Amino acid sequence: MSGFEAFVYHNGELFVENVSLKKIAEKFGTPCYIYSQSALTNAYQQFDAAFEGRDHLICYAVKANSNLAILNLLARLGSGFDIVSGGELQRVIRAGGDAQKTIFSGVGKSVNEMRMALNLNILCFNVESEAELSILNQVAKSMNKVAPVSLRVNPDVDAKTHPYISTGLKENKFGIAMDEAMEIYQSAHLYPHVRFTGIDCHIGSQLSLIEPFVEASEKMLQLFDRLKKQKFNIEHIDLGGGLGIRYNNEKPPSIKEYVSKLCSITRNIKQRLVIEPGRALVGNSGILLTRIEYLKQTPARNFAIVDAAMNDLIRPSLYDAYHEILPVEKNTIEAKNYEIVGPICETGDFLGHDRKLSVMNGDLLAIMSAGAYGMSMSSNYNTRPRAMEILVVGNQPHVIRQRESIEQIIAGEQIIAY
Ligand SMILES: *Cc1c(COP(=O)(O)O)cnc(C)c1O
Repeated sequence: MSGFEAFVYHNGELFVENVSLKKIAEKFGTPCYIYSQSALTNAYQQFDAAFEGRDHLICYAVKANSNLAILNLLARLGSGFDIVSGGELQRVIRAGGDAQKTIFSGVGKSVNEMRMALNLNILCFNVESEAELSILNQVAKSMNKVAPVSLRVNPDVDAKTHPYISTGLKENKFGIAMDEAMEIYQSAHLYPHVRFTGIDCHIGSQLSLIEPFVEASEKMLQLFDRLKKQKFNIEHIDLGGGLGIRYNNEKPPSIKEYVSKLCSITRNIKQRLVIEPGRALVGNSGILLTRIEYLKQTPARNFAIVDAAMNDLIRPSLYDAYHEILPVEKNTIEAKNYEIVGPICETGDFLGHDRKLSVMNGDLLAIMSAGAYGMSMSSNYNTRPRAMEILVVGNQPHVIRQRESIEQIIAGEQIIAY
């Protein structure tokens, strides 16, 4: 089960596992994110099984979906975590995650974030510049500690994905060029409070081809060989995340195909393999459930105005991303082509263009493949409370995040007394 299979029609009505989405909407209201525990578990186990005895660590990229219940589920399955902020580190710890299975990525770690991570003894810092390395060395020194570090190299590989989520080209802000990375490793003596334990790369997100992964992994192996010749004791090779999922008609490699490929490229080394999947773990395990508020016909178009918007799911507006949109109840009304739009005052506020649907006012729609970069990228734009989140476990929906209140949104604001 890769996720979609958790959302199926029974007698013309869409279910998540054995739970009626219509009943969830009636009980909890809309918009809400709904995740399937079995789909998520299954995706994790597919990754894990594909390593077939190879020493490995799956570090779930928390930014894809950082709900505590999701992190807790993954922690229980044995997952490690890839974090990009101190906030995410706190979430991991609160959710029962293991700091010793946590790696810290990102180009702009602050001193406070470094301190927090050193205090908790995380597994590794993925360092992205010499400037950062120098600060980390100082921070570790001030705490009388030694920071475990991988340099994130930029393998200069075209991931052939959306430019906003392509990270492995030499013109991107991410990583350190191969030759420069080699020089920094060789200058280890300048950083006595840093211990180089690994090498790392991450070339982008939503990759649907295997070749860029192959190319990047081969370059990483070359770097590993050079370091080995110079007697560096590299303990792990982190090949990043980025495996794509099917939103529409993409045909990304399967989890098994992808992991098997990484294992076969690196078959001659015994070092632990680390990967940082986000989207491929949670993307197809979740949907955004929304209700049609109004159908509106204009001379040019038909609009279905729904109660979810770009603040809930920004991917269509930001990347022109496609999400399949399914009616929760199939019916026999005449189908029309609709623009699926939210209530936000922006023309860019859409969830789908030109979708052929048989729908009426009040009908429910499921925005598919919304488990990754949905809730975690949501905002309060237009002072819209963020959606509720529900995790379906067996036959039971559990609220894993309450719907936000207006009071919560404005809690930190203050009128000034003049
Ligand atoms: C975002 C990110 C990931 C996860 O990417 P996915 O496409 O969701 O798998 C992994 N590693 C790093 C460093 C990231 O920034």
